[in-house]
Amino acid sequence: MTDPKNFLTQIIEDDLTARRCELVVTRFPPEPNGYLHIGHAKSITLNFGLAKTYGGRCHLRFDDTNPAKEEQEFVDSIKNDVRWLGFDWGPYEFYASDYFEKLYEWAVLLIKKGLAYVDSQTSEEIRVNRGTPTEPGKESPYRNRSVEENLKLFEEMRQGLHPEGAMVLRARIDMAHPNFHMRDPVLYRIKFAHHHRTGDRWCLYPMYDFAHGQSDAIEGITHSICTLEFEVHRPLYDWFLEALELPHRPRQYEFARLNLTYTVMSKRKLRELVEQGHVDGWDDPRMPTISGMRRRGYPPEGIVNFCQDIGVSKVESVLDIAHLQFHVREYLNKTALRRMAVLDPVKLVIINYPEGKHELLEAENNPEDPDAGSRWIPFGRELWVEREDYRENPPKGWFRLAPGYEVRLKHAYYVVVQNAVYDDSGNLVEIQATYDPASRGGWTQDGRKIKGTIHWVAVHDCGEAVVHEYDHLFTVPDPEAHEDDAEPKTYLDFINPHSLRVIQGVRVEPSLRDALPGQRFQFLRKGYYVVDTRYTTAGKPVFNSTVGLKDSWEKLEKKLAGGAV
Ligand code: ATP
Ligand code: MG
Repeated sequence: MTDPKNFLTQIIEDDLTARRCELVVTRFPPEPNGYLHIGHAKSITLNFGLAKTYGGRCHLRFDDTNPAKEEQEFVDSIKNDVRWLGFDWGPYEFYASDYFEKLYEWAVLLIKKGLAYVDSQTSEEIRVNRGTPTEPGKESPYRNRSVEENLKLFEEMRQGLHPEGAMVLRARIDMAHPNFHMRDPVLYRIKFAHHHRTGDRWCLYPMYDFAHGQSDAIEGITHSICTLEFEVHRPLYDWFLEALELPHRPRQYEFARLNLTYTVMSKRKLRELVEQGHVDGWDDPRMPTISGMRRRGYPPEGIVNFCQDIGVSKVESVLDIAHLQFHVREYLNKTALRRMAVLDPVKLVIINYPEGKHELLEAENNPEDPDAGSRWIPFGRELWVEREDYRENPPKGWFRLAPGYEVRLKHAYYVVVQNAVYDDSGNLVEIQATYDPASRGGWTQDGRKIKGTIHWVAVHDCGEAVVHEYDHLFTVPDPEAHEDDAEPKTYLDFINPHSLRVIQGVRVEPSLRDALPGQRFQFLRKGYYVVDTRYTTAGKPVFNSTVGLKDSWEKLEKKLAGGAV
């Protein structure tokens, strides 16, 4: 799999040609404070993909510098998700917390060089004195503490002799710098918190900026690729490497984050959705998390193909979720076994089919894949068909069931509707039809044209299932766009109350009774479905709707292409 050309491949190729680097080393640096989402999949595909393309390697590094929000559960889920997407970091699993001792030494070095100081201002004073975009900041009264005093205080901070908030360690750069991040940024703060790896060993923790570039340098990262919001941090990233005179100099490059319609992507918001019970956990099939998409039935190949197809850009944009679904559908079309399932069953009785007779008919498993073979499906006098496939008074162009209409039962026979039976309230309870025994397998030699084909399941031998039919989690394409409106609304005001519809009493062909959690199928004429891993019980599968059959993205693409000509 070769990555498409983009500005990053250009930079890397130039670096290799000019021998600025021998081996390409990238990293994916998640903070273990939540589950990975599709935006992370973009970063993973990019970092692992570039390493692979250029014969290098990609590290998995947990950016675990903030003990309050980080947990082992998230570390485990992140590893699981990266592996599931098909990427392997081999022995290169690292934690920023492994470098705490080294980072501390480096902080001491900066103090000795007069490039860092302990500031005893309150966090509020620090904030106020940072200035504004048009005004320079004010230097702290503690900025000119002696090296000895700084060393002593910093050591005391480590010993736990000062309470949280009493003091911080700051870089001594320039309080008038046009870039806020260069106005004496905080390097360390006191936190009496338990860390998921270092336990209670530390009570002061480095800030992201002080940890990230140095971690890159320690690991020999050559191309440190991150999202655009870190562009303004780059001068600081370089400043630390320079000030510490580190022999290896990684370079940071930024690209635009991935955003998708009908969803939110920040971990904070995803956590809110989970904690407020709007969804059923991080892996709810409506979530844009990798684990949610897995439960939804998205194949990793579909996700990775999407991430490669959209390329890498420097411009923020919101991509149509239909584009992702297009890649999911494309992959499933080639791989998912075809099955028949009737979601809203009504009985079809074939009145000229012998009572008590059953037969088995052969059905191909996937017309797109000759190796998928075929299966045998039971057929009898009574079948379940879809209620919506019958019309007493059909509109023009109707090719399904209606009085006097002839249709093909997929893989079986032609039938002609003779009669329909209703209950006292006018509900359809049974359709009666006759079949043509000469049409076995779904065709005849007389060449007569049958326009409509419908799916069905035999009453005497079928399974019962539950279907979870999903829709977008939000009612509008950009739920975060309304936060500046006159009447501010939050993304939570746009939660789709109909994003999950539970359908009981679904009838499925017998082979689906024992379908395994995680197996993906195409239900003929209905869409793609996956066996749910949480709610499925023995003999009673629960299917999650993955994506429909309709190709709205492809249509849109064609329209756009057409419009451009
Ligand atoms: P969030 O903003 O959702 O909380 P984050 O940036 O805090 O995400 P990290 O765990 O720090 O999450 O991210 C790990 C890596 O994934 C970073 O390099 C980050 O730039 C990248 N990343 C995060 N979100 C996206 C996105 N939407 N598109 C592309 N890359 C992303
Ligand atoms: Mg982050």
